[in-house]
Amino acid sequence: MTDSLGDWKRTHYSQELDEDMDTESVTLMGWVHEIRDLGGIIFVLLRDRNGITQITAPSKKITPELLEQIRKFKKESVIAVKGTVQGSPKAPGGVEIIPTEVKVLNESKQPLPLDPTEKVRAEIDTRLDSRYLDLRKHSISAIFKIKSAMLHSVRIYLEEKGFMEVNTPKLVGSATEGGTELFPITYFEREAFLGQSPQLYKQMMMATGLDKVFEIAPIFRAEEHDTMRHLNEVISIDAEMAFADQEDAMNLLEKLVHNAIKEVKENCQAELEDLGVELEVPELPFPRLEYDEVIDIVNSRGVSLSHGEDLSRAAEKALGEAMDGYYFITNWPSEIKPFYVMPHEDAPEKSYAFDLMYRDLEISSGATRVHQHDLLVEQIKSKGLNPDSFQRYLAAFEYGMPPHAGWGLGAERFTMCITGMKNIRETVLFPRDRRRLTP
Ligand code: ATP
Ligand code: MG
Repeated sequence: MTDSLGDWKRTHYSQELDEDMDTESVTLMGWVHEIRDLGGIIFVLLRDRNGITQITAPSKKITPELLEQIRKFKKESVIAVKGTVQGSPKAPGGVEIIPTEVKVLNESKQPLPLDPTEKVRAEIDTRLDSRYLDLRKHSISAIFKIKSAMLHSVRIYLEEKGFMEVNTPKLVGSATEGGTELFPITYFEREAFLGQSPQLYKQMMMATGLDKVFEIAPIFRAEEHDTMRHLNEVISIDAEMAFADQEDAMNLLEKLVHNAIKEVKENCQAELEDLGVELEVPELPFPRLEYDEVIDIVNSRGVSLSHGEDLSRAAEKALGEAMDGYYFITNWPSEIKPFYVMPHEDAPEKSYAFDLMYRDLEISSGATRVHQHDLLVEQIKSKGLNPDSFQRYLAAFEYGMPPHAGWGLGAERFTMCITGMKNIRETVLFPRDRRRLTP
């Protein structure tokens, strides 16, 4: 039997209670975190969004009916409690509530697939299967409050810098970079794909005269990775700016990253504490390493890698040991970067591409883009792709395409850097990986 909400309204969250409210009447709503029945007195911990409050029910102070009602509480049921605040130095938050009336709004089945009191540390798969329960832990929801604060900061920052938020299609007719790694879907009588990047669309936006655009949206990668830093659906923070080059793009990116970390540190103190994270705001500007220097560093640390190769995982790890914090890798070989990346004019084997790294983790890739139609066609061909399949995209470069640059920053990888999470799955509510498509 459960009770209806009726005209009850929550008056406070746990965190809003303090000793100064002694004798005040309050209504709390939340979950039964724990229940301890000592016969003559029952202690219930009520957990809500931000905190935990102790409900103390001594048989001397409350009616036998009320005591019986409380005794029947089950762990993780949803309850509402009306009562009086009483200062109590030993209770969490320094107060306890002496109940006058209670309701069970929804009863939880027992046993629980997962214990939100964290007494038993569950495996990540068990946790993800019951994510709704997992997220009741404040140390887990903290990750998402921080992610939300980071995204908020990024959005405001870009808007303040004159960027307009846009939405580009996620159902696409052909491959962005021509490669594999796309999820094919059935689009009526045709084949289509899930977008792997807004790249071609944000470039076409550069031909509209709107100059600065950004998008925060999912990208889909059909890579069969099974790593701690890859998922098949992630949120990409993409920015593209006209009349700008890679230096402008890097300057914008490092300031945006710096600002987001600063704001998370200022606004998410409780969440960082829940996670046990001492967040350091990185100094500006971030170091810039040339790709060639990176190869030397990696080689000097005993990982063999020749000039021209993409960084292997071992190379990233070696680099991460040499470099603390955030840094850029610039001047990548054109060969291992996509066709839309601008080659150096005098040495076309090098490109104006950059990656932003945090220790051993790539968090962003960006570049000055090719804005000249004929060069772009040439580059598409040199990557073994067919310019015909890029017809509509290429046309945008024939009627006044300004020079432009931009980047894509992985929201989950950036969240990993801020929260200290080692597994990217921790930073997505409902992650999608090679094996997981539900919940
Ligand atoms: P990696 O080499 O680490 O697989 P990438 O170079 O293929 O990454 P990009 O195409 O450059 O990735 O995408 C830009 C950013 O988007 C990356 O730096 C990363 O932050 C994020 N990203 C891309 N693919 C993934 C993925 N599968 N899982 C998590 N984040 C990703
Ligand atoms: Mg990249």
